[in-house]
Amino acid sequence: MSLNAVSTRLPHWLIKKIYRNEASLETKEILKSLKLNTVCESARCPNMWECFSKRRATFMILGDICSRDCSFCSVKKGVPRDVDESESAGIAEAVGRMNLKHVVITSVTRDDLEDGGSSHFARTVSMLKKRYPEVLVEVLTPDFQGKVDCIKRVAESGPDIFNHNIETVKRLYEYVRPRADYYRSLDFLGFIKTNYSGIYTKSGLMVGLGETGRELESVFDDLRSAGCDILTVGQYLSPSKNNIPVAEYVHPDVFKDLENIAFAKGFLYVMSGPFVRSSYNADQVFDKIKNKDKTEV
Ligand code: SF4
Repeated sequence: MSLNAVSTRLPHWLIKKIYRNEASLETKEILKSLKLNTVCESARCPNMWECFSKRRATFMILGDICSRDCSFCSVKKGVPRDVDESESAGIAEAVGRMNLKHVVITSVTRDDLEDGGSSHFARTVSMLKKRYPEVLVEVLTPDFQGKVDCIKRVAESGPDIFNHNIETVKRLYEYVRPRADYYRSLDFLGFIKTNYSGIYTKSGLMVGLGETGRELESVFDDLRSAGCDILTVGQYLSPSKNNIPVAEYVHPDVFKDLENIAFAKGFLYVMSGPFVRSSYNADQVFDKIKNKDKTEV
């Protein structure tokens, strides 16, 4: 299946200012000195310099080689290396040096490991919670092939937010995420909400892959049925010529409409915009939810 691609020339709303300053270079240096991977760099996120300039980054654990081959993602694919358990301590050190109050941890997919890497996630979250009890921890995990024991292991390590991205509409799964399953991802989110009601659940979608508005609304409905609390929606930007092309550059007004539609469906918080990514300004999203909770009490 292939979709029509748009011109590689970006519309004006997708021209991103580069924020290279002392803080962004310092962030890069901290990550390099502790030999930490970030999805910001590996996935060529367009917000990298902006986030680094605010001393924010999303740590990517379990190495930098992914065992899956999603066509939208630029993270290296192949046979992953052994798990480096010292990564957890490195992240704990970085959190202190970067003075983070909200940490986001994601990973490559590790279908090669019996536990899908869930033990390493749990170890890292527990270490952070022990060392910095006041710091909020958000995990953004793969689907662990739907293995309940893996999901439980991570949930019970104490994250405040459990994020699992649905990424796209059901019809495009084969094209975009051939080794994932739309319903498995929904069940994943539903399982967390049902069994760990104190954890906020979050999911994210890319647009511009050829989906329709009606299909997007149907994903919003499915996510709400799974009890998903927080939603992010952002523009897909093909990270390299080896990735699938962009089918459409979605106008900022449409992002605003999607945000309103999603709020109306009952999400606690929705962030929708061309440069929104699942970890973009994650700390601000959480603050907004907390304030909302207070005003509703
Ligand atoms: S939006 Fe997320 S992945 Fe992108 S640079 Fe910021 S923290 Fe990193």
